[in-house]
Amino acid sequence: MKRIMRIAALVLALLLATILFAGCASTPTVDVIKSRGKLVMLTNAGFPPFEYVSEGAVCGVDVDIAREIAAELGVELEIQDMDFDGIIGAIKSGKGDLGIAGMSVTEERLKNVDFSVNYVDSKLVILVKDGNTEITGADTLSGKKIGVQSGTTSDVIATGVDGAEILRYKTFLDAATAMKSGKCDAVVVDEMTANEILAVNKDIVMLEEVLSTEQYAICMRKGNESLQEVVNTVLNRLLAEGKIDEYIANHMASGE
Ligand code: GLN
Repeated sequence: MKRIMRIAALVLALLLATILFAGCASTPTVDVIKSRGKLVMLTNAGFPPFEYVSEGAVCGVDVDIAREIAAELGVELEIQDMDFDGIIGAIKSGKGDLGIAGMSVTEERLKNVDFSVNYVDSKLVILVKDGNTEITGADTLSGKKIGVQSGTTSDVIATGVDGAEILRYKTFLDAATAMKSGKCDAVVVDEMTANEILAVNKDIVMLEEVLSTEQYAICMRKGNESLQEVVNTVLNRLLAEGKIDEYIANHMASGE
């Protein structure tokens, strides 16, 4: 009898665990989002012009896009500002509906999330302090300290440089500040954000060499086809209307 009770308790525990797990892993489909009345965007607001904080509010190209998606769904937009390297995990565990963070599509990320259509072409570049004659391109980074934002494609590229020491920061802006004070020798970063950094730091320069070409897209829970369809419809419309370029121009401090 004791044994039966023990087995029954175990079965019950397993059943509860399954229900709980299924509960937190439920996919935020379009119906779920509509009945909830809000779309939750996960981002890292240290990546101008795509997301940055101005007068206490998160704004940028990605926020403009997210507003269009929320309007299409007829719901409010909630923005959650978090560490970039936590976004994919948070999407997987259902803490947000969409990761919109100037996020480049990579094979590795595709193992964990689905992406929308691409909405921006990007490239990675190297920043150094003005007057640095030692670092002239990728082949001179060996043995140097490279600053990056943790979990980004820059992190992956820099980590692949033979003999380099990688310093990982919460944002690229922090990496640039660290370089100014001599804590690292170079920063690898997306070109448009590099331009924003240059606009406010006259003592930093960008090298000509391009380390990689990438595309930004919006990520979501794997298999969330209804949401992916709405996101793609909105992005395709914005691209066709030239709106994304307009948003970029509006949010560039450098005026480029
Ligand atoms: N595009 C880069 C990446 O996906 C950086 C994105 C970001 O820092 N917000 O890794």
